[in-house]
Amino acid sequence: MTTGAVWDVVVVGGGLSGLAAGAEVSSAGGRALVVEGHQPGGRARVSERDGFTFNRGAHALYLGGPGIGVLRRHGIDPQGTPPPLRRYRMSSGGRLHQFTAGPASLLRSSVLGARGKAQVARLLASLPRMDTATLAGTSVSAWLDRLGLGADAEGLVRAVLRQATYSADHDGLDAGAAVTQLQLGMRSGVSYLHGGWAQLINGLTARTQVRAGCKVRSLEPVAGGIEVVTDAGIERARAVVVAAGTPDAARHLLADPPDWGDLGRAVSAACLDLGLARVPRPGWVLGVDTPLYSTLQSPPAHMAPDGGAVAAVIRYGARSAEVDRHDLEAHARLAGIDPATAVVTRFLARMVVAGTQPQARLGGLAGRPAVTATGQRAITICGDWVGAVGMLADASLASGAAAGTAALEAARSTTIVA
Ligand SMILES: Cc1cc2nc3c(=O)[nH]c(=O)nc-3n(C[C@H](O)[C@H](O)[C@H](O)COP(=O)(O)OP(=O)(O)OC[C@H]3O[C@@H](n4cnc5c(N)ncnc54)[C@H](O)[C@@H]3O)c2cc1C
Repeated sequence: MTTGAVWDVVVVGGGLSGLAAGAEVSSAGGRALVVEGHQPGGRARVSERDGFTFNRGAHALYLGGPGIGVLRRHGIDPQGTPPPLRRYRMSSGGRLHQFTAGPASLLRSSVLGARGKAQVARLLASLPRMDTATLAGTSVSAWLDRLGLGADAEGLVRAVLRQATYSADHDGLDAGAAVTQLQLGMRSGVSYLHGGWAQLINGLTARTQVRAGCKVRSLEPVAGGIEVVTDAGIERARAVVVAAGTPDAARHLLADPPDWGDLGRAVSAACLDLGLARVPRPGWVLGVDTPLYSTLQSPPAHMAPDGGAVAAVIRYGARSAEVDRHDLEAHARLAGIDPATAVVTRFLARMVVAGTQPQARLGGLAGRPAVTATGQRAITICGDWVGAVGMLADASLASGAAAGTAALEAARSTTIVA
């Protein structure tokens, strides 16, 4: 059954990238429809339980990144608050230490010896001006080897890089992309959003037409356009954006899948989200000798009932559910949280944080497929594994906007045959 309407652009997937693509087409005067198999939001979706609001795992919006530029262009000004870094702790050997966010806390921290403090101080001073283009194609591990840091300083730098990029695979991760991400955090900081990332999803959803709960089964090229076969019938489009979340999901929809080569594995995490009746102390603990991180999303953001808190505990790199849950609960206890007393507990054993990470062996960000790399002019792609700009949500929003623009251009040069 064909519904009759001919869309300029149909977007497959209503996560951040697909919604950004739809908003871009709509704001440029095109007719766009975003088709989403579940609820809009994808991995940036929030859930409400017993008065607590949960992102899917810890989510921090980079304030100086390309993503916020896309949001602001569409009149979305995210409201939130920075995490209180001075209250953060680091864990090593089962003990807590001062977080080393800047020179003063660095000097006080017991996580580093005197030599480690000097090495990290030098690195902190040089990071803002580091030319990341010269690091593209070098892995984080190779870069750290070159720096010749002591074990304590290297452990700390690796922990901060995990926190900034979500990646624990430093042998594969491109140092150019990772250091750019660190620079972004140091320059402009991040924000924990009031009410979670629903702000972004609701803002973008209001700027384009979205059909939720409708899965796209296939894309069938026809003269001058594409038939989008969905659970609810066939939509006809002049162009399509595939924003399905991962390279595999995109390949599955493309009739003639392009050869993107080996893009590497998805970046994964195990997540323990907790709604708590009281605010725990310290709450924020970044593991130095373990790839674990506990953060309070609320407070500072408003996501919990009065006096309560929302904690997110993460293991960078998911393994088996049983082992990860055990480690997440142990790390929560180190952060002063007793998981047994949580009002709400949600364990997400294996979340895909990003479809791929920028791989050093592919030249870093430049090695990710372009939005137009489908072999078909009328079909573009987007997501956090697409395009040469940004990581995580920044990449999704930036590639979403670019894919929407390219799709509308293709649509405007196409006449569909009725
Ligand atoms: C635990 C965790 C923590 C994170 N923390 C941060 C952070 O702090 N900062 C940051 O910048 N980023 C963070 N991210 C990354 C960020 O959430 C993602 O980069 C972003 O949300 C991905 O958006 P997307 O649109 O590219 O993909 P997705 O959100 O995966 O959206 C794809 C959508 O397509 C739909 N879909 C797929 N196939 C079909 C089909 N055939 N028909 C219809 N619909 C389909 C899916 O249902 C889904 O909704 C985090 C991610 C996770 C998991």
